[in-house]
Amino acid sequence: MFRKILIANRGEIACRVVRTARRMGIATVAVHSDADRDALHVGMADEAVRIGPAEAAKSYLNIPAIVAAARASGAEAVHPGYGFLSENPDFVEAVEAAGLVFIGPSANAIRAMGLKDAAKALMEKAGVPVVPGYHGERQDDAFLGGEADAIGYPVLIKARAGGGGKGMRRVDRPADFAAALESARREAESAFGDGRVLVEKYMAKPRHIEVQVFGDGHGNVVHLFERDCSLQRRHQKVIEEAPAPGMTAEMRAAMGAAAVRAAAAIGYSGAGTVEFIADVSEGLRQDRFYFMEMNTRLQVEHPVTEAITGLDLVEWQLRVAAGEPLPKRQEELAIDGWAFEARLYAENPARDFLPATGRLSVFDLPDGVRIDSGVRAGDTITPYYDPMIAKVITHGRSRADALAKLEGALERCRVGGLTTNAGFLARLCRLPAFAAGDVDTGLIGRAGEGLLADPGPSEEAFALAALSALGFLDAPAGPDPWDRLRGFRLWGEAAKTVFLDHAGAEHALRVTVPGGERFRIEHDGIATEMRLQPADGRSVRMDVDGHALAASVHRDGAAITVFFGGHSHAFAITGEAGHHGEAAAGGDRLSAPMPGLVRIVKAEPGARVAKGEALVTMEAMKMELVLAAPRDGVVAAVPVAVGDQVAEGALLLSLEPEEAV
Ligand code: ADP
Ligand code: ADP
Ligand code: MG
Repeated sequence: MFRKILIANRGEIACRVVRTARRMGIATVAVHSDADRDALHVGMADEAVRIGPAEAAKSYLNIPAIVAAARASGAEAVHPGYGFLSENPDFVEAVEAAGLVFIGPSANAIRAMGLKDAAKALMEKAGVPVVPGYHGERQDDAFLGGEADAIGYPVLIKARAGGGGKGMRRVDRPADFAAALESARREAESAFGDGRVLVEKYMAKPRHIEVQVFGDGHGNVVHLFERDCSLQRRHQKVIEEAPAPGMTAEMRAAMGAAAVRAAAAIGYSGAGTVEFIADVSEGLRQDRFYFMEMNTRLQVEHPVTEAITGLDLVEWQLRVAAGEPLPKRQEELAIDGWAFEARLYAENPARDFLPATGRLSVFDLPDGVRIDSGVRAGDTITPYYDPMIAKVITHGRSRADALAKLEGALERCRVGGLTTNAGFLARLCRLPAFAAGDVDTGLIGRAGEGLLADPGPSEEAFALAALSALGFLDAPAGPDPWDRLRGFRLWGEAAKTVFLDHAGAEHALRVTVPGGERFRIEHDGIATEMRLQPADGRSVRMDVDGHALAASVHRDGAAITVFFGGHSHAFAITGEAGHHGEAAAGGDRLSAPMPGLVRIVKAEPGARVAKGEALVTMEAMKMELVLAAPRDGVVAAVPVAVGDQVAEGALLLSLEPEEAV
């Protein structure tokens, strides 16, 4: 076995590889870009080497720098993770030319499967069923249009060099074919530098079912059963599971055999995934599954296979790369229970899954389930890399059991400081069709708005945010948890009004303290009365109408996140009575009330602006924050630009001094 390996990746997969290597007594070398100097994977590995600036093209895709790092550190082998260089045959050759072992398949096997058209032709020859369509050389418009007619609409145009759902267009009628072809080509050309396409039959009710395969250098190939990845949004996986719901033993055997045939046809060694699409318009049928593509690497969703087989696939990768035979034969492999994986992303499902950036002010994931993550509280999600924050993996005796665990775990995810899809994932678990195992790739698209948008905060959540804004949920100064409420008692019947921004709208909350630990919060004419009992840390227990409820409230400067009832809600303090507006904008200056991304800048130096005019829009926390001119005046300077990530308190815009106007 190797004594030391280099991991040519970042984030959760780099951390996950370190864990297995450590358990096996193998030393690890991490690589990192400048943006990742303090990243979790760097700290976890035994050594770390800088390979370039933040841009992936100059760091995690920088073959010479990575190979040099491997040589300099004395690593014997390189694990590529997924994404980045994992399916790049030139990288494999560069690693091997340096006298090192690539932990994965041969450059030739990767090449054979690298282009979807060539892979399909190869699979046809190996007797693996492929999606009906045209995957030949000819690319002229009229010819491809004719092929589409022959296939029958709807059809799917795919970039042959495609990946990550890019360069893919569904076309429903002949009249739309030419325009779709042009736009698919354009996208493919810019994403992959290869505009060539294939045309496929678009399955009426498709399910994505893939088979995990493993080969070794001794001619053995086995499959580790299937995963169902049909829960997708825009051709991207959202929740995966193993095994596939409704799978029969016969169909599993047929798919497993086809996948093994595919891998054997290219002399495959290491971990790979053969992706099939199944037409389930008449249920799962053994004669209705077709090869789509093969991913010649470890897959993001490999943990569900680990959960149901009890195996460590990274350990298998290391053993095979070190020349050992596969640890188990096909007949020694069995399925135990059911597993799910949900991909937790920094993104906004309600805004077309727009990636989010920002600092993870709160990052508190549940115990008792497997969490694969590459970040920790306080880390910043930058725009440079994939915005996946963590994978939440559950295992149960039955599908219902594993799904209930997943829903519970997602509801206990507390992530603050940026927008995530946690609420969306939890709502997905409750979709009746999903719960029933009646999945297909169109399920999320059909489910509608209610699935995408988080519900607004309840009055209790508003009330807690207001109390936090006024400082009454801060950690107590002394050992007595009542200390923090003491100052409040001095108020007597006095009232304070606090202004909070939620999702771009401002809310005024009037707080009175009728006595003791009782509070009355008025908001939009609705009064909420609650009794508060401070609990540990950031948790509070409140009593509303005799109903005891638990919540947790996190404050980070002007940013407040309330976790309550399985939801998280982000607020920003925009002002307090008497000082309204000046908390964020101090007279001549507009400064960032919290860390975030500058989205829109509407004024330039010299422009005359009116009080209240929207000048800068920031994206921070779960919201867009519109910052308006504090008074009439002339803009003196705008030291930020669209796309800048700014720290709390950073100057965004200043006005000429009053006298000069
Ligand atoms: P999977 O089926 O395992 O999800 P994908 O093709 O979607 O496979 O990609 C796996 C991961 O690698 C994703 O997180 C994706 O963002 C990332 N990825 C894919 N292609 C690239 C690339 N060229 N460069 C960097 N990351 C990539
Ligand atoms: P990528 O390289 O982007 O992963 P795939 O060929 O694996 O591309 O397709 C991605 C997804 O697109 C599949 O998981 C499936 O949801 C959908 N898809 C692909 N081919 C078809 C098809 N012929 N009919 C219907 N949906 C398809
Ligand atoms: Mg795919």
